[in-house]
Amino acid sequence: VAEMGTPNRSVVTTCAYCGVGCSFKAELNGDRLVRMEPYKHGKANRGHSCVKGRFAYGYASHKDRILNPMIRETINEPWREVSWEEALEFTATRLKGIQQKYGQKSLGVITSSRCTNEETYLVQKLARAVFRNNNTDTCARVCHSPTGYGLGQTFGTSAGTQDFDSVEHSDVVIVMGANPTDGHPVFASRLKKRLRQGAKLIVIDPRRIDLVRSAHVEAAHHLPLRPGTNVAVITAMAHVIVTEGLFDEAFIRERCDWDEFQDYAAFVSDERHAPETNEMLTGVPATELREAARLFAKGGNGAIYYGLGVTEHSQGSTTVMGIANLAMLTGNIGRPGVGVNPLRGQNNVQGSCDMGSFPHELPGYRHVKNPEVREIFERVWGVEIDPEPGLRIPNMLDAAVDGSFKGLYCQGEDILQSDPDTKHVSAGLAAMECVIVHDLFLNETANYAHVFLPGSTFLEKDGTFTNAERRINRVREVMKPRNGYADWEVTQLLANAMGAGWTYTHPSQIMEEIAATTPSFAGVSYEVLEEQGSVQWPCNEAHPEGTPLMHVDGFMRGKGRFIVTEYVATDERTGPRFPLLLTTGRILSQYNVGAQTRRTQNTVWHQEDVLEIHPHDAENRGLKDGDWVKLASRTGETALRAKVTDRVSPGVVYTTFHHPGTQANVITTDYSDWATNCPEYKVTAVQVSASNGP
Ligand code: SF4
Repeated sequence: VAEMGTPNRSVVTTCAYCGVGCSFKAELNGDRLVRMEPYKHGKANRGHSCVKGRFAYGYASHKDRILNPMIRETINEPWREVSWEEALEFTATRLKGIQQKYGQKSLGVITSSRCTNEETYLVQKLARAVFRNNNTDTCARVCHSPTGYGLGQTFGTSAGTQDFDSVEHSDVVIVMGANPTDGHPVFASRLKKRLRQGAKLIVIDPRRIDLVRSAHVEAAHHLPLRPGTNVAVITAMAHVIVTEGLFDEAFIRERCDWDEFQDYAAFVSDERHAPETNEMLTGVPATELREAARLFAKGGNGAIYYGLGVTEHSQGSTTVMGIANLAMLTGNIGRPGVGVNPLRGQNNVQGSCDMGSFPHELPGYRHVKNPEVREIFERVWGVEIDPEPGLRIPNMLDAAVDGSFKGLYCQGEDILQSDPDTKHVSAGLAAMECVIVHDLFLNETANYAHVFLPGSTFLEKDGTFTNAERRINRVREVMKPRNGYADWEVTQLLANAMGAGWTYTHPSQIMEEIAATTPSFAGVSYEVLEEQGSVQWPCNEAHPEGTPLMHVDGFMRGKGRFIVTEYVATDERTGPRFPLLLTTGRILSQYNVGAQTRRTQNTVWHQEDVLEIHPHDAENRGLKDGDWVKLASRTGETALRAKVTDRVSPGVVYTTFHHPGTQANVITTDYSDWATNCPEYKVTAVQVSASNGP
């Protein structure tokens, strides 16, 4: 602060890292950002923050940022810096040429969960109204798409049920496949406060995360399951609750489909789902699992929070439905302190899904096949919408390799580093004739791009993000875009270069269009957001002040659905060559693949990813703490330093993936969730051996 000068003005905006959505006061001296102060009136954070939102904004002025558009005829040529006009003319000509040659469905888009709702809405509109197909997907494909599917099937809406305040009323909390202390720190603080007041905690995770035992917090039960057995564990808990008569019959009779419940109860009651039967499979002691199930059923208000350790599996959607079953079974829906709560990873993963990024859904989770829904958008957009769902990201890449998909606009997403099976992604990208990367830095995907459009940071634009509790927060322009245009403006320029004629002059007009076409946003406007600070959807005539708790009087779909959740083992198997299971996670100071946080002072806290390995497994391999190891799977290998620790169970190893050198996705398989294609990042059979380093 001393170097930057005393702040003389401030702008309230929203953190662009995780799904907690903390509000900050960006304090400036003239045009220079001096510091980010947590905003005490922010409803998601109430004046709290973590080291990412507080300190990791320096990437906005990092020397690596690309500030001018660049083009090249082929990916083997060097980049040529050009004006915005030339870049857009080049891009539009090439995209139109591709459609003429290969047909209307040869183009597609990928939206970003880092961008605003308004930007995401425009990118999917670009696909539907300008490219004239539904080839739109989002990076949520690789994280929370099973949440969308699973909660949509059971409850009727693809979102968490509670606000963050709800945890203050919880008596027993399950945290499954999530590590809030590192991933969602401000929520973790609120949870820990409630635990210190006496609420009980059940952690279901292969790793002994901090919440299991840390200062003033100790979990009542830790179920250290074998990676890949989530469904078996959840079904075993339901077995205990049903066979011991601990379920909430009154709630189920009133709120759920009773016939489906009876089928489900008969299914889970079978002895093959008993904890004892599954002990060998899951690695969870049956007695511990029984006690945990009893505690959840009888312990008062029960809430479930979960993360990517639930979704990024071949049975990710099944586990989400199993969690929903457990909440309905125990009557833990529709009041403070209960509910099913996905801890969203990226700042706007909820919003990117809400805004119609998926190839089968228009904004507001309405199927593109529905003519009445299409008619709403056709009237506003003035074009006919293709009734056929489009391609998901993996299908776009398959079609590219097959030769029918030729052009991709990728906003704020590095698919080469983030998506599974790196070789297949690069083959797909290399087969395209126009890859447009719209981003802050020359990322890995840009190696295969023909056009690079410089992106703007969250500090440089107006708009909204929607956090994990469905809270729509304002993002406000703190400084002018260093690249010349905010991301929503770039998408509009591209659409217009292709002949669209869009005329938005401010993101508030885009929000007006969202409200006019999407019932759950009908009451949202920038005026309402100014008045209320933020608002949780659904916000409409029925709920003018928004909706902190969902499904209070009934489920969005009517009766809640119990769905039978049969455990199916992943095709990824351990064996003599690959005897260990690798799972992955994050660390507090860094964020995802580190594109932003590695370009900030947060690197002082974390400079390399390491491989956690149990002392027995390390000893068997002659490894010591700090040794370099080779981590090999059926798909590839990489080198890391070993961290010998009993945080992981024997047979399980763990790493983070914040540094490109870690190359985690060279190791992971291409197995994915059966319903949504979300990659199975959390289960990879590996071998670990001594190495001389990279
Ligand atoms: Fe809040 Fe998440 Fe940002 Fe940390 S990273 S300040 S918890 S929104």
